[in-house]
Amino acid sequence: MEAFMDDGAALLQLLSAPGTAVFLDFDGTLVDLASTPDGVRLEPGVVEALALLAERHGGALALISGRPVAQIDAMLAPLVVPVAGVHGVERRGADGRFTVAATPDVSPVLARAQALAALYPGLLVEQKRGAVALHYRLAPQLEQLCLQEMTAAVQACPGILLLHGKMVLEAKPAATDKGGAIAAFMQETPFAGRRPVFAGDDTTDEAGFAYVQQAGGQGVKVGSGPSAATLRLASPGALRAALLAASVSPEGADDDN
Ligand SMILES: [Mg+2]
Repeated sequence: MEAFMDDGAALLQLLSAPGTAVFLDFDGTLVDLASTPDGVRLEPGVVEALALLAERHGGALALISGRPVAQIDAMLAPLVVPVAGVHGVERRGADGRFTVAATPDVSPVLARAQALAALYPGLLVEQKRGAVALHYRLAPQLEQLCLQEMTAAVQACPGILLLHGKMVLEAKPAATDKGGAIAAFMQETPFAGRRPVFAGDDTTDEAGFAYVQQAGGQGVKVGSGPSAATLRLASPGALRAALLAASVSPEGADDDN
């Protein structure tokens, strides 16, 4: 069994420190997971805390999600921040420019996932730009069947790989990942030259942890399970507490001089 760890104090210090660039996953990191993707809700005060934290770091705060950018915008409205969506396939920089990576054809995977979901009503298929997610949270007994079907479907699609997340199997382009998305932000103003901190909870976030830690930054794993991140928080609630505390922390304002 994994030892309980809570590096909230260390994270608070990192988030408050001048020269930080903050990168955050959304589901299972900022918000608690729900039984369906539409069911998540932001706790009061989180959007305000993100706005304050973005301001104190000169706008160097971005969301790095598996959701499309438009969904993240809708969740955070009226706040608008830089976002990478669909694990890096979509990206909107601090200058507002929206870029989309070239993606291999994923339609055969979509067809197979939809055929399976037609047979089992507990399964939920999400179609995204260049990716397909099959959620089995409402039918966990179907995990093996879903894995078998999605593995076979992906094997027939060059350039597509299968990610096994929390109660979800996602076929996505092999060439784009969250590490690449964070690296692209780090080439741009206002992120460039800062120390990246990335918090995430799932398998898709491991590429982000690997990138930020090799770039001299810090990965923060939220929740249990093996991870390359060297800091860990018990839950999204612990991350929210650190964000709220960092947003009002008196020390470390870094952009007024
Ligand atoms: Mg997540």
